[in-house]
Amino acid sequence: MLVKPTRIVEHVTDINLTELWESGVRGFIFDLDNTIMAPHTGILEDNVSDWLKQIEAQGFKSIVVSNNPLRFYTEEAEKLLNIPVIGNAGKPRRKYLYRALEILNLKPEQIVVVGDRPLTDIWGGQRLGAKTILVDPLTKHQEHVFVKFLRKLERCFVHQS
Ligand SMILES: [Mg+2]
Repeated sequence: MLVKPTRIVEHVTDINLTELWESGVRGFIFDLDNTIMAPHTGILEDNVSDWLKQIEAQGFKSIVVSNNPLRFYTEEAEKLLNIPVIGNAGKPRRKYLYRALEILNLKPEQIVVVGDRPLTDIWGGQRLGAKTILVDPLTKHQEHVFVKFLRKLERCFVHQS
């Protein structure tokens, strides 16, 4: 098994939209926690909110597929983000990633999966046949040492193409 994100960026707003559009991408499947929102906060930062509006204005469709099992939380996120949110998705399993494709009415090759976890978000997107972008976790500077160790371990599986 080798996790190979198409691109690695620090923050979602660093994603090159022109490059994606020219490569045929028309839709985003976002991870939620630590990708577009800090976990358990229910707070959407202005820069991310503005960026989500910008990608919509440029013609991209978006959906969130999250492994977060808390229904009230994913429903709140849906209202806040104003894009559909599928929770409890069990990534890297593909069931709900396929569901997301149906909702967006796009093919895997028209999709980019964006997330902070190599073994769930990126591995799932890769198996879907989509492009993938790995972002740094939004809260990486506040994490517990043990979590940092786990993330470092996960990065051992990653080779950028
Ligand atoms: Mg995440």
